[in-house]
Amino acid sequence: MSTFRSRALQETLNRKLIPIVESKNRSEYFASNVFNGESMQQYLTKEAFESVMNSVKHGSNIDRKIADQVANSMKNWALSKGVTHYTHWFQPLTGGTAEKHDAFFELGQDGKALERFGGNELVQQEPDASSFPSGGIRNTFEARGYTAWDPTSPAFIYGTTLCIPTIFVAYTGEALDNKTPLLRALNAIDKQATAVARYFDKNVSKVNAFLGWEQEYFLIDKALVLSRPDLVLTGRTLLGQTSAKGQQLDDHYFGSIPQRVMSFMIELETECIKLGIPVKTRHNEVAPNQFELAPIHEEANLAVDHNALLMDIIGKIASKHQLKALLHEKPFKGINGSGKHNNWSLSTDNGVNLLSPGKTPMRNLQFLTFFINTIKAIYKYEELMRAEVASASNDHRLGSNEAPPAIMSVFIGEQLSSVLSDLENVTDGKLSPEEKTDLKLNVIGKIPEILLDNTDRNRTSPFAFTGNKFEFRAVGSMANCANSMTLLNTIVAKQLKDFKDEVDALIDNKSFKKDEAIFNVLREYIKESKDVLFEGNGYGKEWEKEAAKRGLSNNKTTPEAIKVKVSKKAMDLYSEMDVMNETEIKARYEIELDAYSLRVQIEGRVLGDIAMNHVIPTAVNYQNILIKNVRGLKEVFGKEFESVAKEQMDLIKRISEHISGITSKTNAMVDERKKANKTDDEEKKAALYCKKVKPFFEEIRYHCDKLELMIDDELWPLVKYREMLFTR
Ligand code: ADP
Ligand code: MG
Repeated sequence: MSTFRSRALQETLNRKLIPIVESKNRSEYFASNVFNGESMQQYLTKEAFESVMNSVKHGSNIDRKIADQVANSMKNWALSKGVTHYTHWFQPLTGGTAEKHDAFFELGQDGKALERFGGNELVQQEPDASSFPSGGIRNTFEARGYTAWDPTSPAFIYGTTLCIPTIFVAYTGEALDNKTPLLRALNAIDKQATAVARYFDKNVSKVNAFLGWEQEYFLIDKALVLSRPDLVLTGRTLLGQTSAKGQQLDDHYFGSIPQRVMSFMIELETECIKLGIPVKTRHNEVAPNQFELAPIHEEANLAVDHNALLMDIIGKIASKHQLKALLHEKPFKGINGSGKHNNWSLSTDNGVNLLSPGKTPMRNLQFLTFFINTIKAIYKYEELMRAEVASASNDHRLGSNEAPPAIMSVFIGEQLSSVLSDLENVTDGKLSPEEKTDLKLNVIGKIPEILLDNTDRNRTSPFAFTGNKFEFRAVGSMANCANSMTLLNTIVAKQLKDFKDEVDALIDNKSFKKDEAIFNVLREYIKESKDVLFEGNGYGKEWEKEAAKRGLSNNKTTPEAIKVKVSKKAMDLYSEMDVMNETEIKARYEIELDAYSLRVQIEGRVLGDIAMNHVIPTAVNYQNILIKNVRGLKEVFGKEFESVAKEQMDLIKRISEHISGITSKTNAMVDERKKANKTDDEEKKAALYCKKVKPFFEEIRYHCDKLELMIDDELWPLVKYREMLFTR
């Protein structure tokens, strides 16, 4: 067998299990590596503690002197845990996380060594981060960027480094990261949702958005991954015959977790628990070697940080177990890809989930208000929702019968559908006392606290209501949740603002009672946004037709989908809600276009290399063996050889056809790539990569995969699908 492949397989088979058991209850060591309220209380003076808490709750500034105190206590806490370095931890527009470690260690003026960490170092840093994408906001020679402490996300220790969550902004104030717009969006939703929640409860002073993500991923033996240049360089397989057995038997989903994977999971979860990531659920997913991890939901900013952190540490821990965690949305053709459901809800500071039905009609009117406003927001901004989950890698998943389609719709279940249709018939204008009683008793009073559809839900919907939260399912497994959370909270904030304006106007101008005004506005919203509600099969062809009739967008590729991000509608939205200005929006758009082109470009290069330098030489080798065989048969059988050697000669011919197919398609692809690279217009370039370069991938793959079926297994150089997906 090809030495590389056989060595990789041998290595995999020789793996010894690393048995890992959990020795303690998780509650005993939860967040032990986090400088949270509890450890702060222990280490900070009362004054400093209150100042930080105030900043967390109300966004107030922390005085420099206090910052010094906090820094010093943070250092002492960290040193007590064996920490030597600190870093400002941030989320640049690459989508990942970034860190640059500095030691506490310093030399004093007398040359004496000491450990120092002051308020200045805590509050602000200026990383030489000129190589991060900025979409032209920060010309390297003009304005520099700095990171600034975000006290709403607590500092934590990873390894021997104290990590301080920060935002990353230009000196001109523009956001250079994914976190700054998120924080602004969370501010916006707080402001608007609080105003609306106060219709129902005057004691509400803050509304928090919550996020519970579900991370899907594949685990493949490290040696097998390293033997595949496509996986190493692009995160997905660019060729490979699908395995005879894939997920048809559904025997992996929720099956017993293999022991090797279990010890990896335990170590990962132990690390998560120490870092305060409240991991709760683990299970096998649908595809072979695919798994899922989900924590208890948290305040959205923290949950976003925790997911970003998880995406980093999952790789490190997997590596210790000689495994590779693949976070790509579509690592393997023919079996399911991976997503990251974002479960979202809103909660008041007195602990009421605004998206959860309750026992009283008033509570249910509040629930309906937030529920219907969310639906209306999705209806109005469905195209932006689609745009926000677009990426070169997620394009392989959306709309390919395993993930939600590229059409955004909302699933709400039978019970709530019937409530909405009852509400649609609410009398226009003022309500008689009987009508009010009827509404309260027979419509909103009917909403059960626990909704049946919560269990029997539609898996094909990209945005589903699941009992007490909405579940945005189209988010990609590799994505930073900050972006989908920024958008979702912004559009709902905007919608709630409009709602409040309309309700107040009815109260002021027509002297409607509050609940009358609310009913009237909600009734109109239901009528207006009906078209986004869909309970049927989202994977069906009929839905595409129906959605087109309803005027819903269906943008299948990233370059098409993200155009709307720079539309006037988007600009108006973000600027009205103080989330992003025009410069920031345009910069992000540029960066995304560029990232798209680069990804496709890299994939094209890698595929060309494998096809030309791995597949063709192997095919030629095998062909030579066949030729030798045919020659031998001719010697033995003389004239009759043609009938005896027919199959071999046919094979020789077919191999040549595929070799020539690969060569011509690869050359044509290279030509298209060259053309695409010539243009400076990022939009055009991305479109060319999408429409002209990418289509060759499938064609080249077709020939390679055919050859894989013909060529002696012993000679085939690349680890095969069945080996990657079924060897443990
Ligand atoms: P499923 O796969 O059936 O959707 P999981 O148990 O895997 O269910 O995931 C449920 C997710 O929903 C978890 O991430 C959990 O934290 C999250 N979640 C539960 N309740 C809420 C809520 N009120 N707000 C936001 N997220 C929630
Ligand atoms: Mg889910």
